[in-house]
Order: sequence, then structure tokens, then C-alpha cells
Amino acid sequence: MEIKEILELVEREKINLIDLKVVDILGKWRHVTLARTNFSEKTFYDGVGFDASNLGYARVTNSDMIMIPDPTTAIIEYIGDDKVLSMICDVYNVETGEPSLHDPRSLLKKTLESISDIADKVYFGPEYEFHIFKDVRYTVESNDISVYIDSDEGFWNSFDKGEYFIGRKKGYHRIPPFDTLMEVRNKIVNELLKYGVPVKYHHHEVGTCQVEIELSFVDALKAADYTLLVKYIARKVAKEYGLIVTFMPKPLYNEAGNGMHVHQFMVKNEKNIFAGNKLYGLSETALSYIAGLLKHAGSVMAFSNPSTNSYRRLVPGFEAPTNAVFALANRTAAIRIPAYVKDDKKRRIEFRTIDASCNPYLAFAAMILAGIDGIRKSLDPTQEGFGPFEGDAYNENIKPLPTSLGAACNELRKDNEYLTVFPKELIDHWISIKMSESREIMSIPHPKEFENYFDV
Ligand code: GLU
Ligand code: MG
Ligand code: MG
Repeated sequence: MEIKEILELVEREKINLIDLKVVDILGKWRHVTLARTNFSEKTFYDGVGFDASNLGYARVTNSDMIMIPDPTTAIIEYIGDDKVLSMICDVYNVETGEPSLHDPRSLLKKTLESISDIADKVYFGPEYEFHIFKDVRYTVESNDISVYIDSDEGFWNSFDKGEYFIGRKKGYHRIPPFDTLMEVRNKIVNELLKYGVPVKYHHHEVGTCQVEIELSFVDALKAADYTLLVKYIARKVAKEYGLIVTFMPKPLYNEAGNGMHVHQFMVKNEKNIFAGNKLYGLSETALSYIAGLLKHAGSVMAFSNPSTNSYRRLVPGFEAPTNAVFALANRTAAIRIPAYVKDDKKRRIEFRTIDASCNPYLAFAAMILAGIDGIRKSLDPTQEGFGPFEGDAYNENIKPLPTSLGAACNELRKDNEYLTVFPKELIDHWISIKMSESREIMSIPHPKEFENYFDV
């Protein structure tokens, strides 16, 4: 919508409340709700002041910043009986009046501008995998860390739950009554469609109470905005059913984890520049993009897989990647080239490493800049030893991906020149936040360690 349309809509529909959403450093939305009396055309220029230090932005000496709504993101939400106009904001510096590059959304926008010599548009098709549980309780006290999880589908190792249950790794595309989550998924997707999110489909995933929603291709900025919207709506709708959603990469031991694969291609002068006749229908540009993304994969992962839990997912046996290789139709590789794509307009690659614990704006910016670095340097992935890989990457030790958050942070520390748009303080700040998360988890004795080492 345009500013004029929004102002007219607020007037016509007598909307009293205007909700402004802004992303924090970890990728979570924060919001403030304006009364209509405090909302006018000026809001789109002067913005609303807030304390950015609470959003975890790098310690900028002055933490007063302003959020300015992006009118193109306007949607009408119903909260109880109230109609609320909701918009996503960009964050501006008070002194300079310019967008702040410490704001992840502004950083992604700047990234897209910075590559305009190569691509007019970057298209992403994200896939959201998540779990829907009936009950989750956890206690973390100095001497007691315990987790209790319950689901309507029963777990493969506790078949005493009811008449129907999904066996271990048997959930893919299952139908009701084994799939107990179709109704809630339908509701989530209907809600998303109302807001104009182009959902491609939804289905039950491999794991018990694990599901997936996939989007059609949208530009990278929209893909990041929609990522937060999908999480928000999934949680809100599930709550109405008394259910709990988690996008945690690996909530259950020995079950499939949650990835957030991103299909991607670029367009210049209305032509998909990833389509060509080099290999698997890809162009030289696409191959160079692959090479850049795989070359910087370890460092990118500090943004695309930024939780300690991310690395419990990236293990053999659950269709999550472990090696920085590319391959046709192969789910053990970091980059899969989908084999069924016939249309050159949709010629693409799929980055499978990324998970939803990321801040999508930062992760998408890092991914794009890594690929672009490959294009600018005309890298050839076959020369760099990244493939094309054939076989089961789980059995090979070629180009292993980092196996911990600490290792990914070390990669980022060594390899960040390609992140041309990222402020240096943001990278340092990110490493310090993530290293302290990593150290904390490392310092907690794991129950399995008692079994393995108590008798040493
Ligand atoms: N759940 C798997 C992962 O962790 C992916 C399964 C699939 O290919 O959809 O990446
Ligand atoms: Mg999937
Ligand atoms: Mg996929």
C-alpha cells in the first residue's frame, strides 16, 4: 500500500490502533502500538523513537534511534475484536537521518542495492520446518535440567499414547488420523494467504509432530519479512488450539531436525541468470554463486546457523547436510540442485544448511554476499573441489561443515572480507554474543557425559 491509501484506510475503517514491528538482533519481532491520535503522515517521515540497546544492536554510543514504518508491508490484523493496522519498520539514525546498518532489515536492503550491477532481483523460496507439541515443560536450575515434551502423535519410543501413532521417521506426507496437525496447518496457511503470503503448500514432515510450510518465490527482502510473519502466525494460531510451536533446529534426539532450506536464483533484465547450459541446466554465474557460498559456508553459518542447537541438527542420518558440497537431487549436500525443475524461469539452487534460529535478514545478506563474491571472482566450484558430488556425503570427509557454533564463529572471525556491507562492529558484536552462548552450553556437563566418562 501507499502512504495515502493507508491514511484513507485508517480513516474509512475507523482503525484506532497502528502496530509497528521491528526486528531485534536475534531475529525476533518487537512491537509498539500507536493510538490513532498519535499517527499521521508525519509518522512515515519522523518515525517513532525507541531504545535500540534493548534490541541488542551493537553498542552504538547513542542508543536513541527511530523506527519508520514501511508502507508496503501494511496488513490488517485482528487481535480479539480489534482491527489493527500492522507495519514492519526500518530503523534510522537520529543524527544522520539515514537508515542504520545495525538494523538487520536496512542491512539486507543495502546488500541488495550493492549487488545491482549483477542482479536486479534476488528470488528466494524458503521452506519452514517446525514442530507442534501439545506440552513442553523445562526446568533449568543449577542441579536440575529436565525437559518434558508431549504430542498428540505419540513418540516413536513411547507407543502407549493412543490408537494411532507415527512410527520413527515415517511422518513424511502422512494423512490423518496419523497426521493430527492438518487442521491447525490449514488454519495457519489460510491466515497467511489472507495477508498475501504466497504459500506453495504445507504437509506433515518426517518426524513426529513435525510439519512444513513452503513459500513460492518472492524477493529476498519479502522472504525475510515473511519468515517472521510465518513464525508469528504459526505460534498465534497453534496457541488457539492449545498447542505450542517450535522452530528449534533439533528439539528431539534421534528424530529429524528443522531446517529452513532456501531455494534461490537471481534475475537481471528480466532473465533468470542462474539458467544456462553448463551443468544441470545452470549458468556459469550460478556455478560461481555456488562456489562463493560453499567457500564461505563456515563463516556464513555463524549467521545462518547461529545457535548451539543448530549443530545437533547437522549430523548424518536425518537429511540435513554435513559437507560443503553441491549435488543433484542429493539431500546430504549443503547445496542441492533440484532435479525436477524443467522451467528455466525457475532454475535454482537450494541452500539446505540454514535453520530458523537465524535472523533471516542477516543470514540472507550473508548468503547473498558469499555467492556474489564467487560471481565477482568467477570461481568455479568444480575447480575448488566442491563437487558435483555423487553418493552419500555422510560417508565422506570432504569439505566438512563446522560442527559447533564456536567453530562457525571462528570461521567468521577469519573470513569476513566478503561481507562488504556489514559494519565491523556488528560482526564483532555478533561473535561476542554467539561465543558467550556457545561457552555457556559448553560449560554444562551433559547427561551422556556421565555415562561415557563417570568411570574414567
Ligand atoms: N528435516 C531435514 C533437515 O533438517 C530436511 C528434510 C527435507 O529435505 O525436507 O534439513
Ligand atoms: Mg522438508
Ligand atoms: Mg527442501
